[in-house]
Amino acid sequence: MQIKKASVQGFCFGVAITVKKAEEAIASREQVTTLGHVVHNPQMVESLASRGLQNAASVDEVDSGSLFVRAHGLPVDVYDKAQKKGLEIIDATCPMVTKIHVQAQKLKADGYKILVIGDPTHPEVKGTLSHVPGAWCIQKVEDVEKLPRSSRVGVVVQSTWSGVGFTEIVQALASKYYEVRAVNTICTDTHNRQSEALRLAADVEVMVVVGGKTSANTKHLAELSESHGARSYHIEGPDELQADWFAGVKVAGLMSGASTPGWLVDRVEARMEELAASA
Ligand code: SF4
Repeated sequence: MQIKKASVQGFCFGVAITVKKAEEAIASREQVTTLGHVVHNPQMVESLASRGLQNAASVDEVDSGSLFVRAHGLPVDVYDKAQKKGLEIIDATCPMVTKIHVQAQKLKADGYKILVIGDPTHPEVKGTLSHVPGAWCIQKVEDVEKLPRSSRVGVVVQSTWSGVGFTEIVQALASKYYEVRAVNTICTDTHNRQSEALRLAADVEVMVVVGGKTSANTKHLAELSESHGARSYHIEGPDELQADWFAGVKVAGLMSGASTPGWLVDRVEARMEELAASA
């Protein structure tokens, strides 16, 4: 079986910066706490935890030391609370996420009603919404007809959203509102991986996508690949691979989400080769 690997692999630059900052923080400080996992990757989370990175569900549980802000960013009120508590804030928000906040605030200042396309329960989207109070948030094209009336709508989108979903929603908005100004804030890394998913899906029979089960960008890659003709499996590591997925398969694809380390992709590739050889 031939394995075609996506040309974009390993951490995106935002996750790479976050992991580096987290490693530096735990090496030089007594107590560093993050709210939620630093990356959507169980192996990396375990590694950072074993070196001392603590995890809390809310800033209310953190009374001393440093608060580490992961790539997704945090809602404005959480920063405020942390400052009031006297916590040191180590901010590793991805610059692409900060750019979304800035674009949304600019649109708001220009008089647009803000619409964020994304999952309202996702930490990044919660952070973005906190920067533009009163903004709407939708996930599906069907949601457009339920939106209230307005004349000017300004749109930003979750950094890891699917490009296809973004275009569909913007087209529907354009036929409902007098003026729509949409800024495509899907990050370059996400865009590149999605383009690769489409390109590879056309060439392979089976696609393996490696990444945390809670990773939005990994989930979208697997969905895109499946919808473009490749039987697709979203896994977190080599142990989940099953020999029967590759029975009779001549060409398989392999790609990974933005928070998947390169070494993990190499292990998955090695296991795929073993399974193919023993089939
Ligand atoms: S996926 Fe994009 S927005 Fe998210 S951390 Fe990586 S570069 Fe930043």
